[in-house]
Amino acid sequence: PTILAIESSCDDTSAAIIRGGKILANVVATQAVHEKYGGVVPELASRAHQQNIIPVVEQAFHTANIAKSELAAVAFTRGPGLLGALLVGTSFAKSLALGLDIPLIEVNHMQAHILAHFIDEPKPSFPFLCLTVSGGHTQLVLVKDHLDMEIIGQTTDDAVGEAFDKSAKLLGLPYPGGPMLDKLAATGNPDRFQFPIVNLLGYDFSFSGIKTAIMYFLKEQTQQDPEFITKNLADLCASIQQALIKTLFKKLIPAAKDLNVKEIAIAGGVSANSGLRKALQEQGEKLGWNVYIPAFQYCTDNAGMIAMAAHFKYLKGEFSDQYASPEPRLKF
Ligand code: ATP
Ligand code: FE
Repeated sequence: PTILAIESSCDDTSAAIIRGGKILANVVATQAVHEKYGGVVPELASRAHQQNIIPVVEQAFHTANIAKSELAAVAFTRGPGLLGALLVGTSFAKSLALGLDIPLIEVNHMQAHILAHFIDEPKPSFPFLCLTVSGGHTQLVLVKDHLDMEIIGQTTDDAVGEAFDKSAKLLGLPYPGGPMLDKLAATGNPDRFQFPIVNLLGYDFSFSGIKTAIMYFLKEQTQQDPEFITKNLADLCASIQQALIKTLFKKLIPAAKDLNVKEIAIAGGVSANSGLRKALQEQGEKLGWNVYIPAFQYCTDNAGMIAMAAHFKYLKGEFSDQYASPEPRLKF
C-alpha cells in the first residue's frame, strides 16, 4: 500500500509517503516562530501548521514522485500533543481521505516514535525494551509486537527532554536548548559538578528535582561570581547531561535484567543526544545487549515514523473514520 502520513502534534509540520513499508519521502518544516518566546506557543504552532501543511504535503508528493490517485490511505497523528496543532493535521487528513474516497488511519505519536525502528535496518526483534525519551514523555516500554506495547515505567513529573531544555534555559542558552547543551557538553568535564540522581521505586522516573537543584546551584554560584556560568559552561553542560543520562540508566538496566530482555532501543527527540547514544553503546557492550539507535532524522518529530505505524495498521485493517477527533492525552 501507498500511504500519506501527516504529523502536526507539536511544532514540526511533516508529511511522509510510504510504499510497501519503504519511506519514499519525509518532509519536515520546523517552526522558527517560537524561538523568541523560549518555548512552543500553542496558538502560534497551530497557525504555522495551517500555513505549512499544503506546501509540505506537495513537497512530499514531489519527492516521492507519485500522484494523489495512487494513495491507498491517509494517516494522521491523533495524539498525544497540542490540541490546536493536532487539529490541523487531523482535519487535513480527513478532508483528503474524504475527497479521494480512501480510508483514514489514526496513529499514536508515542507508538510511532518507537516504530521508527522499523524504517531502516537493523530492526529489533520482539520482545524488546524501548526507552522513549522526548520533549513531553519519558517512558520505558515493553514492545511485544508492532502494535502491542506496554508502558512499564514513566516519568512522574517532567520529561527528560524538558529537563534538557529547562537546564539549557537556566544556562542562558537559546531555545531549543537540548541540542545546544549536547554540543557544548562534548568539550566539558562530566565529573566536575555533581547533580542529584533521583531513584524512585519501580521503573518510574523523576526529573523535576534535578532541575530545581541546578537552579539553586547556579543562583548561589553566580552570587559569588557573576561570570560563573560563562567560565564553566562546557563543564556545566557535560555534568548536567551526565546526571540526566545516569537517571535514565538507573531504570533501564534493572528493567532489562528483570524482564530478561537483551534487545534494547531508544526513541524520541532525546535519542539524538550524543551522550545518550554513546552511553547506550557502552552499556550494551558491557551487558551483552543488542542496541538500536534511530537515525537522526527519525529521532525528533517526523511523519516518516507516523507512516511506518500507519503501514502496520493498514496491514491489520485498523482504520479510523470521519468522526475521528484529536486526543491531546491519547494513551496506548
Ligand atoms: P513528545 O514526543 O513527547 O510529544 P515532542 O514531540 O515535542 O514531545 P520530540 O520532537 O520527540 O518531542 O523531541 C524534542 C525534544 O528532544 C526536545 O526537548 C529537545 O530538546 C530534545 N532534543 C533534541 N535533540 C537533542 C539532543 N541532541 N540532546 C538533548 N536533547 C535533545
Ligand atoms: Fe515527539
